[in-house]
Amino acid sequence: MNKPRHVLGISGGKDSAALAIYLNDKYPTLNFEYYFCDTGKELDETYQLIENLESYLGKKILKLENDELKGSKESPFDFYFKSFRGYLPSPQARWCTAMMKIKPFEKFVSGKPTISYVGIRGDEEREGYISREANIQSIFPFRRNIWSNDVLTEFFTPGNQSKVQEFLTTYHRGNDLDRFIAILNEPIDFERNNKTETEKVLKRKLHGSLDLGIPEFNRTVFDFLKTTEYPLATEVDFELLDNEDILVREDIFRILRESGIGVPKYYEKVEFEVDGQKGEYARSRSGCFFCFFQQKIEWIWLYEQHPNLYKEAMEYENEEENFTWTPNESLAELIQPARIKQIKLGHIQRSSKEESKKSPYLLDILEGTERDGCNTCFL
Ligand code: SF4
Repeated sequence: MNKPRHVLGISGGKDSAALAIYLNDKYPTLNFEYYFCDTGKELDETYQLIENLESYLGKKILKLENDELKGSKESPFDFYFKSFRGYLPSPQARWCTAMMKIKPFEKFVSGKPTISYVGIRGDEEREGYISREANIQSIFPFRRNIWSNDVLTEFFTPGNQSKVQEFLTTYHRGNDLDRFIAILNEPIDFERNNKTETEKVLKRKLHGSLDLGIPEFNRTVFDFLKTTEYPLATEVDFELLDNEDILVREDIFRILRESGIGVPKYYEKVEFEVDGQKGEYARSRSGCFFCFFQQKIEWIWLYEQHPNLYKEAMEYENEEENFTWTPNESLAELIQPARIKQIKLGHIQRSSKEESKKSPYLLDILEGTERDGCNTCFL
């Protein structure tokens, strides 16, 4: 097998930008290839961020697009919008992500062994986009656990345990070794039709193993991977194995500020007042300005902060056919004064409720649950 490529997708959001800076500074010998899948419908701040990153990294961020778009004067979104006959994408029919993000990415990788770095943070509970292609392996450098679920499933599969135990003894001794063997011996059934229970056991095994030493666990997994077809199997060593950093939201903002790249302006909260009450709104994510994943308050933010873009988003809707960005409500209805007031008051109420709960994800919640939506587009 050939040596793997190391690729990093820049979405235009804060997490992938911070990941590129962090890895470039900490692992300058890894030869990263950066890419960006342009929809043609991003906010200006996103394009500015890409430019700033290119000069910081001293490398081009490759703009990926599909062959059928070559020579087209239309933006990628408009091209596919027409080919889908005006059918708007939605969480249930996400042709936009499939056509404009995943397809060009898989063509870019073109069957070669590839390590894809994903900027999911240490304070998030979610998996990123995992390609079904066997030649693409995802790594999560900001998390305590850098491995994807498919790797962990292989590692903890009962049939692989004797192989895993061989590698275990290189990095674990005495009590730690006994504890690790006990963790491996806890029954887990990946075939069973009880996904929730399987996930619970897998999580327990993972955290129990990491508690015995992160680099030790990573080295055991790495040795195990060498017996598989995973792209990392061909590497003699992998620098991230000893990395014990866990980066959370505040670290991301710090990295962006300290690097001089800065935080995209749309994340900055803007104050508003309604019925004598004060609130704040912002955009919580990168991606298309009309993304259907955004919350109603973010639509209001778009209407008030970028009225031309809101107008442009309205032009894609076809109320007769029921093609609207948000279910059962058109953008024209959303900006009726009474409706704006209702959305803003609801947002103020929700924000103060969450504030009193002292949620660890408070900032995310205030800014519109950035955990919802598309990992391919928003990281
Ligand atoms: S940002 Fe939203 S609308 Fe744009 S491609 Fe991603 S999911 Fe689709």
